[in-house]
Amino acid sequence: MTPATAERAAFHAFLDRSRRFLVTTHVNPDGDGIGSEIALALWLRARGKTVHVMNDSVMPDAFVFLARGQVIEVFEPELAERRFDEADAMVVLDTSSRQRIGRLAPLLDRHLMPVAVVDHHVSHTQGFGAVNVIEPEASATGEIVYDLIREGGDEITPEIAEALYVALMTDTGSFRYSNTDSPAHRMAAELLTFGLDPQKLHTQVHSHASADRLRFFGEVLSVLEMLEDGKLVVLEASPEQFQRHGLTGADTEGLVDIPRTIGGVDVVALFSEVEAGKVKVSMRSTGRVAIDHVASRHGGGGHPHAAGVLMRGTRADVRARILPELHRVLAPPEAAGRAGTP
Ligand code: 5GP
Ligand code: MN
Repeated sequence: MTPATAERAAFHAFLDRSRRFLVTTHVNPDGDGIGSEIALALWLRARGKTVHVMNDSVMPDAFVFLARGQVIEVFEPELAERRFDEADAMVVLDTSSRQRIGRLAPLLDRHLMPVAVVDHHVSHTQGFGAVNVIEPEASATGEIVYDLIREGGDEITPEIAEALYVALMTDTGSFRYSNTDSPAHRMAAELLTFGLDPQKLHTQVHSHASADRLRFFGEVLSVLEMLEDGKLVVLEASPEQFQRHGLTGADTEGLVDIPRTIGGVDVVALFSEVEAGKVKVSMRSTGRVAIDHVASRHGGGGHPHAAGVLMRGTRADVRARILPELHRVLAPPEAAGRAGTP
């Protein structure tokens, strides 16, 4: 048995051992985190389990349609205490480190319960669960959940198929990013047999921008900086801009991807100072170089071509720490620290 299948077997045994589950994902959840949660919750309920889903952050508008009747709770101290008391076990999805579950992490320290982790981040070196199904070759956590459901011999319902399709579609950038491989397309093809409408799903996910958000994007993009001979684009957003447009950190979703379309660009870095002194760094590579190690070195993580980290300091402080590292990554090939891998 390969380590992956041994861990999968341990995951199935973990599910069998418990009856009441608490399911969560990372702060500012994306389509993979939410889609995986919804699919897992539907699966476990079909098996007669009691499942509560609670996240640190509110559900992004883009994915509300996927939940249908399901309640996805947002952290609130008393409710969280109750959910942890009620649960026998916890499943953490699409999350590369324990602190990424946000305000649920301290409760996990106090409530001793077995945790299973299902994730696909390359930066996920050490599993923080009793069971760790960590498969970086998976295009999305939803792909692992899909395999687990089928291994369990259970039915993929149209609702589960839709949630898993959204997980896969969003994490592969609608089948554009380097994690788009043959298993990903095969999974998509299989999910389509459940009668999904890809165009409709795409529209449902991608029609939630607000005018304020686009104005904010416009403002940030209008002063983008081209550095490193056009290989690096730097964007900055200030606390004042977030406040003036009435936006939160989650509203930057998609912004860092836009300058990837400039010819010759290898890396885009966005420094979002949502609150004074707290800067979220989002980095994207167009494929030539890997940037996950830059995020990991500062306590963040992600994938070779999409990574991020939350750092303390002003935008100027954080830039001064990150830009020299990106300079090294973008230096001529013989000096580059690491070649680009998918
Ligand atoms: P984004 O820039 O869209 O927030 O994140 C890109 C990728 O990096 C995602 O896979 C996300 O999980 C990961 N990532 C973003 N911020 C952090 C962070 O603070 N810590 C870790 N470990 N990963 C992060
Ligand atoms: Mn993911």
